[in-house]
Amino acid sequence: MDDLFPEEIGLIRDSVNRFMETEVVPKMDAIEAAGEFPRDLVLRAGAAGFYGNLFPESVGGSGMGYLAAAVVSEELARNDVRFAACFNQQAATCPYCIFTAGSVEQVVKYVPKLLAGETIGMMSLTEPGGGSDALGNMHTRAVRDGDYYILNGSKMWASMANETDVGVLLAKTDPDAGHRGVTAFIVEPKKYPGFEARPVEMHGLSKALRTNAVFLDDFKVPVENRLGEEGEGFKIVMQALQAGRVTVAAKALGVARACFDDAVRYANERMVKGSPIGKFQMIQSDIADMAASIEASRLLVYDAARRMDAGLPCNRIAAIAKYHASQTAKMAADKAQQVFGGYGLATEYRVSWLKSYADLFFTGEGTANVQKILIAEDALGYKVADRHHGKTKFRDPRSDDIVGPAAAE
Ligand SMILES: Cc1cc2nc3c(=O)[nH]c(=O)nc-3n(C[C@H](O)[C@H](O)[C@H](O)COP(=O)(O)OP(=O)(O)OC[C@H]3O[C@@H](n4cnc5c(N)ncnc54)[C@H](O)[C@@H]3O)c2cc1C
Repeated sequence: MDDLFPEEIGLIRDSVNRFMETEVVPKMDAIEAAGEFPRDLVLRAGAAGFYGNLFPESVGGSGMGYLAAAVVSEELARNDVRFAACFNQQAATCPYCIFTAGSVEQVVKYVPKLLAGETIGMMSLTEPGGGSDALGNMHTRAVRDGDYYILNGSKMWASMANETDVGVLLAKTDPDAGHRGVTAFIVEPKKYPGFEARPVEMHGLSKALRTNAVFLDDFKVPVENRLGEEGEGFKIVMQALQAGRVTVAAKALGVARACFDDAVRYANERMVKGSPIGKFQMIQSDIADMAASIEASRLLVYDAARRMDAGLPCNRIAAIAKYHASQTAKMAADKAQQVFGGYGLATEYRVSWLKSYADLFFTGEGTANVQKILIAEDALGYKVADRHHGKTKFRDPRSDDIVGPAAAE
């Protein structure tokens, strides 16, 4: 396994594992019981550098890239996926939108604090009408009034919205202009009235790191917080979601590995008719299926990440990696529950709720069907998945050190 990535990424992996084993895993059940967002742990994860791999040192990142970010995401999720739930908001989508499309002032003001875990991020695209066609279902309006935009409407499934200090939110400035009518805003819900986040009760998901319905009632956003120009929002967010896809795929891989580790341990311990159940061939068949799919998913996720690091076309391979890893997570969670028998349904064992996270990764940040459409349309020659490669006008965090070495201080 170690030879799948360079030594420096192995060191980051070890550091994530130490942090999770000593700081997070022993506390997470109590945090869940209290239902309190673990701000101090996010701050410590930020200070340890776990959120900065996609960004240059000038904004507090490490510049280590997508493979490093994928490995961090995978290991966070493998140790405790509940804590990993805020990873993309801190380390990918939210700061990515701001870094790629923001002014230098916006980047300097917001990105270093997100990467440091000092502020909590959010990325709110989806609306109640449906996420797969986020553009067609977007009804939230932003109307300019002097130095402010006034936002009205509702968003759905906005993760961490009940905690966020600095988020990116999409709204229509021109409802008749298709994707050119969507604008991205940096929102600060704690500073301005009119933003209400209501956590949604979810089966098997964290009660401390939550997803929300959001209601915007004359919510004010200063004009200086617009990201890019009016009408650029959809391009900004699509690029960020593509960048975040590999870290979501890595999270799914982490969940699959957690299921596998627990199933192997339990199969060796659980005695039936005088022998460990691991000796039964049908249990071995499940373990073998899990192992084979996990190894395949890992190669796909790392390959997608490596291509992203090299600046190669990667939308198609990232979609394949996300699709495969989320399928693997679902299969591994299902098989792990079977290995555990009745105990697989008891909340005392994490396989009982890992299944909900596996289901989430099948849906979140582009459903399995949406990934399959992209993969199949590319294969059939209807739409090239990587047709936008190299055409962006936005900043590239891999190469762009826009603000000089002092910005993060
Ligand atoms: C826990 C959680 C956290 C989330 N966090 C965020 C967040 O932080 N920010 C954010 O913006 N969004 C977030 N989401 C939203 C997530 O991205 C959406 O749920 C996802 O995009 C799917 O949208 P939907 O749930 O409205 O399903 P729909 O779009 O209504 O789709 C329903 C079903 O129809 C299928 N389908 C849709 N179109 C097609 C088609 N053309 N062909 C075949 N099948 C199709 C889908 O695959 C799906 O199975 C989160 C969701 C969850 C559950």
